[in-house]
Parts: sequence; structure tokens; C-alpha cells
Amino acid sequence: MKFPVYIDNLATTPVDPRVVDAMMPFLHDKFGNVGSAHYCGRDVLGPVAEARGSVARLLGAKADEIVFTSGATESDNLAIKGAASANYRKGRHIITGATEHKAVLDSCEYLEKLGFEITILPVDEFGRITPEQVSSAIRHGKEGTKDKTILVSLMAANNEIGTLHPIKEISRVTREHDVLFHVDAAQMVSKLPFDVKDVDVDLVSISAHKMYGPKGIGALYVKKDGKEVPLDSQMHGGGQEGGLRSGTLAVPMVVAIGKAAELAWQELDEERVKLTALRSQLWNGLSASIDGLVINGHPTDRMPGNLSVTFPGVDAEMLVLRSKNICFSATSACSSQSTQASHVLKAIGKTDKESAATLRFGLGRFNNASEMDYVIEWLTDQMKK
Ligand SMILES: *Cc1c(COP(=O)(O)O)cnc(C)c1O
Repeated sequence: MKFPVYIDNLATTPVDPRVVDAMMPFLHDKFGNVGSAHYCGRDVLGPVAEARGSVARLLGAKADEIVFTSGATESDNLAIKGAASANYRKGRHIITGATEHKAVLDSCEYLEKLGFEITILPVDEFGRITPEQVSSAIRHGKEGTKDKTILVSLMAANNEIGTLHPIKEISRVTREHDVLFHVDAAQMVSKLPFDVKDVDVDLVSISAHKMYGPKGIGALYVKKDGKEVPLDSQMHGGGQEGGLRSGTLAVPMVVAIGKAAELAWQELDEERVKLTALRSQLWNGLSASIDGLVINGHPTDRMPGNLSVTFPGVDAEMLVLRSKNICFSATSACSSQSTQASHVLKAIGKTDKESAATLRFGLGRFNNASEMDYVIEWLTDQMKK
């Protein structure tokens, strides 16, 4: 076994060595600017196109529907602020959910200051929102006012409790009402099948570092089938990425997300089986030796490698600090360093005390069964103390 045992793959993943190998040549040997007309620029056109194709294939999209960004945070910002800005004459009402990532919630909060109105839908005890909730929140009032909904933004899978939203059914509601639909799929893509045509969405955010690629690169899917999604760039300049995201393309990073997407595509089924088994092993082991554990999130509609558990009476933060050989989280790392109770756990009805006693495990590609045994043993031992 290699220490530390890393089981916080929902916060970030190690870069797959095959991804490292794929991106290395583009740091020194093939360093060209994809916008240059000379040999060095032309030299990287092919690899960039190939990477774009791999990301598109993973999402069931076309290559020209992929916009490279710096990560899912930027993709969320571009999708929400970009759609709001391009549609403000149409309407100024946006719908989102209580358990969304801060990149979504804070983008919406910012838009509120600019005159938009945001409806934040509550979730049930499992962290889910129903299509009926979305349907009844959609407004069909006067154009250009807060009485007309332009956008629904909901995540595919939650990063803390792993719950899946019924995205396909919610999409149908947005289609009926002619409202744009943005999905933050940073957690779901690469772990479960996600096809933009099957789900029928307009905008999808993903991040490389949640799927064994490097931090600092992500993508936004922007639908181009038929009607073009009205979207304003949030980064102005050289007009790269179809004018939606200016800035010299980070070729090594693009190649890396392409390789990460290719591997995810090839190994999706195999990995889902593995992660499901590891999660069962961890949960069965913990619940057999520790009393009173409560599992958070939906029992069946959930991510395979995610396990959020409340250990009654435990100081989760303390446990994380004490665990020199194991890396796991007391709560989401996304609003880093803040010791505030998680807004996700709060939304599913957890008290601050329960929230402070909750651990989140994120199992991943490089974990194995003996690591799970080690974690079970260590936690059981800690609980005795
Ligand atoms: C990690 C994550 C993000 C942020 O992605 P970055 O690439 O780190 O900006 C956004 N949404 C969800 C659901 C995530 O899990």
C-alpha cells in the first residue's frame, strides 16, 4: 500500500500517468500557438482538434460545440452570466437549486445585484429536485422582466452527497417551456454515461481534474443543433473558441483533458463496477464495526464512488487533521478553508452538529480493496478512542 491513502477524489484526482505522457511533448517540443499560421502553429492544430473530438465524444456532442475554459468554475460562470447577459431583453428570472456548487450559486447571486431574480429550489431529504418543482417555478410573464424565466441551472450529480438529479425529466420541462437548461456535470461525466443529446441540454460544464486530468482546464458544451444558444462571452480579447472565450489556447492542458476524456470513455463501465464495489466494501465495513452511522444522499440514484457518512458525536474536522495516512474530507473542499457548515448538508435537513460530524469519501481510479480495509480499521480504532 502507498501512503497516504487518497480517498478524496471528489475534491480532485491525481493526474493519470497516461495523461502526463500525452501532454508532455506540448510543453517544449510542440509549443506553438494554435493561432499562428507558420509551421509551429500548424503543428499543434491536429492534436487540439483530436482533444476537442475526445471531449465531444465523451459528452455525445460535436467537436464545434466544445469551448475550452479553465475549469468547471469558469464554465459555470460563462454559462450562467453569459446566458443572462445575452437574454436579458427576453427575461430576468433564473432558477437553480439549494445544493448547487458555489460557482453556480455565487454567479446567480451576482446577477441578482444586476437586476435578475433568482429562485433557489429546495431539495428533499436525499438532495433531489423534482421536474414538477421546476415546472411550477417557471414564469411566463412580461418579456424583459423578472416575470419571465430564461434559464434553469441544476447539477447532474452532487459533489458532496453524490445524489443524481432527474436531469432528463427536468430537461423535458425546460423544453416544454422554451427555457435554457444548464447542467453542471463536473462530477457525473466520466463516472456515469452522460449524453447531451439523450439528456437534451443547452449548456454543460465539466472539469479535467475531476477525471484524472490536470487542474486548470475544463470545458463548456454549447449546443449548436438547430437554434444557437444565445451566450455572451465573459472573457473578451482575441476571439478564440468561437469568440466565447478569448485567450491563447493552453495546448498542453487541452491535450491533457482530451486524453483524460478518451480514457474515461474507454474505461467508464469497468470503473463504475470497481467504484461501486469499493464503496460497498467501505460502507459495509464501517457500518459493521461502528454503531449509529447515517449515510447521506439518495440510496440508489447516486454516484458510484461517493460515500457521505455522519458519525454521531464525532468532530469530523479533527479526524481529518489527525489522519496522517489517509486523505478524506470533513466537507466539500470547494469553499475551501471555511469551517462553515456545508450548505448541501443544511439543505437536506442536517443540523450544524450533524454536519460537523460528517465525513465525505471519494473513491477513485487508483484505489484498491486493501486501502478500504486500512481505512475501516483506522476509523474503527479512532471511534473506540
Ligand atoms: C469541482 C467542481 C466544480 C469546480 O470545478 P473547477 O474545475 O475546480 O473550477 C464545479 N462544480 C462541481 C459540481 C464540481 O464538483
